[in-house]
Amino acid sequence: MALVLGGCATGSFVSGPPGQAPAPPSVETEAADEIRVAVVVGENSVHLAAPESFLLSGFPSGTPVVRKKDGSYYETTLRPDELYAPKTTVEPLGDGQVQVDGRSFQGSLEILKEPGGTLTVVNRLPIEDYVMGVLAGEIPHNWPLEALKAQAIAARTFAVLQRLTARQKGEPYDLEGTAQFQRYQGSDLVNDEIRQAVLETHGRIITYDSKPIEAFFHSNCGGETCGADEVWSRDRPYLRPVACPFGNNGAHFRWKAEIPTRDLVRKLRAAGVLVGDIVRLEAAERDESNRILELSITDADGSVQTMRGSAFRMAVGPDVIRSTRFTAQVGPASVVFNGKGWGHGVGMCQEGACGMALKGYNAFEILRYYYRGVMIEDLKQYPQLFQAELK
Ligand SMILES: [Zn+2]
Repeated sequence: MALVLGGCATGSFVSGPPGQAPAPPSVETEAADEIRVAVVVGENSVHLAAPESFLLSGFPSGTPVVRKKDGSYYETTLRPDELYAPKTTVEPLGDGQVQVDGRSFQGSLEILKEPGGTLTVVNRLPIEDYVMGVLAGEIPHNWPLEALKAQAIAARTFAVLQRLTARQKGEPYDLEGTAQFQRYQGSDLVNDEIRQAVLETHGRIITYDSKPIEAFFHSNCGGETCGADEVWSRDRPYLRPVACPFGNNGAHFRWKAEIPTRDLVRKLRAAGVLVGDIVRLEAAERDESNRILELSITDADGSVQTMRGSAFRMAVGPDVIRSTRFTAQVGPASVVFNGKGWGHGVGMCQEGACGMALKGYNAFEILRYYYRGVMIEDLKQYPQLFQAELK
């Protein structure tokens, strides 16, 4: 039951002025295979473009949805004060897709008005469609099929575990569409190879000891993956270091960065590390995969400070200091970093997976190389993953 506004050449986000009978909830019931991905979090406005036909409904029932001056809106930039309902759903009819800030999304969208007066947009869609969107966001489109399939299984596994955790906590969404979780850009870049990889691995997840694993992955390990205990201080038997000779030709195997010393000092100070003029920057301790566990920073008056390598990377910028596997040369005005790999290094190395696929390994072999001792199983064997109720 929802207010039908579409079915004509121009759709509309307008449900009428406050007081008119609005729509009762229509999509509060949950399809078992659905996932909720936050594609916009805490913004002051969001640009929406709807297809020709869609349903619009507001929660709680009886709340008018959108206040707009007049007329119909096929496109609108929505601000929190224009939204009456704490939660609004836009659901395209047929094959239509709603665009949010220029990106197209399959499934329905929930627009949440946060208590702080900002907007969060949650895309609700079947997990398999979501996995296609992750592949489009994470993997170059021309990679071999077996690497895409390995990534599909890892992304699906990561998603179902996040989903379970979020629902047990009563979160308004299961995960975010950012690289912190898994990059999800919607459906724009999904191509035939991605569809094939997801269809051929439909419902497959990675398990260890009859539980889905924490399927972390990263762009390039730089030659050896990193144990989860080194990065997050939690040991997982399937997330231990493995040698990876397969990603050496990857685009992100090596990196270099030159950072003006004063910028570095400013960033470190902002992170609470009070250094003066840096004269030396070196590893105080490295792990077995040669990543810096502890970094020592010496400044001009001889004082030495230490910080975690991972904290240093986050403080300076994880896309500038692409890994903690680096050496640094301090020059008169800048510091030059030479490093290997991109990412935390835990779990599957994406460019290594691509290298393995090019050498003829299949998706299961790739996954079992990076996640030791695991099984590939069907989601259907784990109904408990879908039993957490939405709150
Ligand atoms: Zn690698």
